Amino acid sequence: MKQQPILVGGEWKLGSGNPMQSVFPADGSVNAELRAAGLEDVEAAIAAADAAWQAPGWRDRLPHERAAVLYRVSDLIMARQEELAALQTRDNGKPLAETRALVASAAGTARYFAAVSETLDSEITTPRLPDTMTFSQYEPLGVIAAITPWNSPIASEMQKVAPALAAGNAVIMKPAEATPLLALKMGELFEEAGLPKGLLSVLPGKGSVIGEAICRHPRVRRISFTGGTRTGRHLAHVAADKLISTSLELGGKSPTIVCPDANLEQAVKGVVFGIFSSSGQACIAGSRLFIHASRYDEFMARLLAVTRNLRVGHPETEGTHISPLITPEHRDSVAAYVDQARADGGRILCGGAIPDDPALASGNYYLPTIIDSLPHDSVACQEEIFGPVLVVFSYRDEDELVRLANDNVYGLAAGIWTADYQRAFSLARRLAVGTVWINTYKKFSISTPFGGYKDSGIGREKGRQGVLAYMQQKSLYLGMSPEPIGWSD
Ligand code: ADP
Repeated sequence: MKQQPILVGGEWKLGSGNPMQSVFPADGSVNAELRAAGLEDVEAAIAAADAAWQAPGWRDRLPHERAAVLYRVSDLIMARQEELAALQTRDNGKPLAETRALVASAAGTARYFAAVSETLDSEITTPRLPDTMTFSQYEPLGVIAAITPWNSPIASEMQKVAPALAAGNAVIMKPAEATPLLALKMGELFEEAGLPKGLLSVLPGKGSVIGEAICRHPRVRRISFTGGTRTGRHLAHVAADKLISTSLELGGKSPTIVCPDANLEQAVKGVVFGIFSSSGQACIAGSRLFIHASRYDEFMARLLAVTRNLRVGHPETEGTHISPLITPEHRDSVAAYVDQARADGGRILCGGAIPDDPALASGNYYLPTIIDSLPHDSVACQEEIFGPVLVVFSYRDEDELVRLANDNVYGLAAGIWTADYQRAFSLARRLAVGTVWINTYKKFSISTPFGGYKDSGIGREKGRQGVLAYMQQKSLYLGMSPEPIGWSD
């Protein structure tokens, strides 16, 4: 098999690190062989990035000219949506319907940040001194480390690369070990769109070696990270040592609440989508469900019926709902959580096993699983499983509900299903999470900031502020008086 080159400082070359592979989670076949970036590639990429962002070819280009590159990338992505979605399905095993949506989301993100950069202004700060004028400009930070996980390649990469480039920076992209292919493809498309060489490097490799070296490098001036809380906390220390800013989008264990007046059909479908799409491999998965006791039996009967009808199958088959998990090791970890839940007294109401269909035997499949009767402080209710596993509780009292919903180290998102908007609003204010979906779930708008409370992270991505996070302010004072300063008289 031909080796896939990586993008180092504007040059496509074989990495100087260890051999690695992209593997199809549905059958274990090898999609691509490559060599990871090595430490010398990190040095070369960062040296090129540092030169490229300071060169007149990028940061001093008119904003609409920088935007034009992002618009072109967006068009190229959409023109190749099917090809990119197919490649991503091979790389991480998500069904085609989901990977098509992720590709479209990446294109939309590039377009949005192009538009934001065109309309970004400096600020005239109110001059309090009669003989002085003041204003504040936004300047790029320099070289940005963008570190991404394997669950939403291209969409999560673009969420970092587009605002960072739009702001005039250079980016060193480190995709997850399991999913290098879409980030490399993105590097190709930026090149085709006319991005000057060196502004974007794509360095696949081991997080603890290559990711670490990128983040620790003195020339790297911001770390934008999406991934696990343990790694995020570690990178916050790295950033603190260097006195640089970070954005950390981390784990979740998001509660979904079904109020007594919810539209049950809507709520059931929303809950199923919220936990089981992407086979639960989403930081925002609605993995803890609280149903009002008065509707519990009715809701659970419908929930189980819809869940049992989900099509578990090959990700390249249209109509598949539940596709394989990313790796055999990850599937084992999900299974171990379910075993632990059983041991802790949980009732497995559906799933709780690997499917017995021989056609699925060579993939990392796990059945959609619903568990009740667990104590809320048990492991399966507290830790992020990152798989198709939902734990369920009934509640009567709203104060008790809020206490349990907030009884978790994470605070990424929550869902509320109710016909009463006053109730929804007051509940939403009491939940310690960064995003609340009311009568919907897992809906995203690029213009709406996203990020976590508590151990789910710090900083926000998306929105107009999403570009400013990649800039620093410089304030200027202009003396308007012809008189000298009298101090030394
Ligand atoms: P997940 O649980 O989603 O795999 P990780 O935090 O392990 O989360 O990985 C997310 C990303 O962070 C991956 O690209 C991984 O290679 C990278 N990573 C892991 N450890 C480090 C580190 N010490 N420094 C920088 N990046 C890292």
